[in-house]
Amino acid sequence: MDLGLTGKAALVGGASRGIGRAVAMALAREGCSVAICARTPDALDAAAQDIRQETDAEVLAVKCDMASNDDIRRFVQDAVTTFGKLDIVVNNAGGPPMGTFESLSDDYWEHALAQNLMSVVRTTREALPHLKRSGSGRIINVTSVAVKQPIDGLMLSNSARLGVVGLAKTLSRELAAEGITVNNVCPGNIATERLISLIEQRSKELGITLEKSVSAEETRIPMGFLGQPEDVANLVVFLASTQARYITGTTIQVDGGSTTAVF
Ligand code: NAD
Repeated sequence: MDLGLTGKAALVGGASRGIGRAVAMALAREGCSVAICARTPDALDAAAQDIRQETDAEVLAVKCDMASNDDIRRFVQDAVTTFGKLDIVVNNAGGPPMGTFESLSDDYWEHALAQNLMSVVRTTREALPHLKRSGSGRIINVTSVAVKQPIDGLMLSNSARLGVVGLAKTLSRELAAEGITVNNVCPGNIATERLISLIEQRSKELGITLEKSVSAEETRIPMGFLGQPEDVANLVVFLASTQARYITGTTIQVDGGSTTAVF
């Protein structure tokens, strides 16, 4: 299948490692130029170099905190200045910390909302004039299966990400006439540093080894194993493609069957 991605320009948030890095790599393999960001330049530059080496794609690395409006504006502007256009936006950032309602102060709430909800609002706002010019603009938000089944102990994630789903659904209808699609991708248990550190935290609380904790997670997944970042990236690439022009306003999980909810 020709995905029609050759020559497109994409922007991927939080991409020095994990799902964001895999998405940027996969889009670059399909012929996109990619702008990636993270807060610390060392890991970011290394990721950019790896993507260039593996794909020959043009890669722009911008130091940017997705919780900062000024940084986001600069990130999007740098991408547009470098590539001369923008066709695809993948909204992604690190997940908020674990915590129950009574353990979380306003500072935690405000940071989670800035990083995981307002980042989507701000990046989309900044990118929108360019996506409109694209003729096949794509907005893809990396959220979590928590939007279908809230996960105990992840109060901030469960709350902020549902805002993204409401925003995306509403926006998909507002932008459909412009040929722009808006979709959410929901990772389940994907073996990234973020997931392993969450499992490690749980294993310490339960007083069991990390290996035991990982295999306990795996037994809860019908497919019996943790997903890889590429499993999520493959869906993002398809949603970014011209072949996905009629798919908008959806929220799709990549979870090996672990979500028991119907929708
Ligand atoms: P990760 O921690 O492995 O990678 C996150 C990337 O984003 C890194 O490159 C990091 O440097 C960057 N980043 C973090 N905060 C940032 C910020 N404020 N500004 C700019 N860059 C920032 O995470 P991951 O596992 O790849 O997850 C990506 C997203 O998917 C997260 O929001 C996570 O909560 C969500 N998610 C992941 C899983 C999973 O199993 N891995 C499951 C559900 C949801």
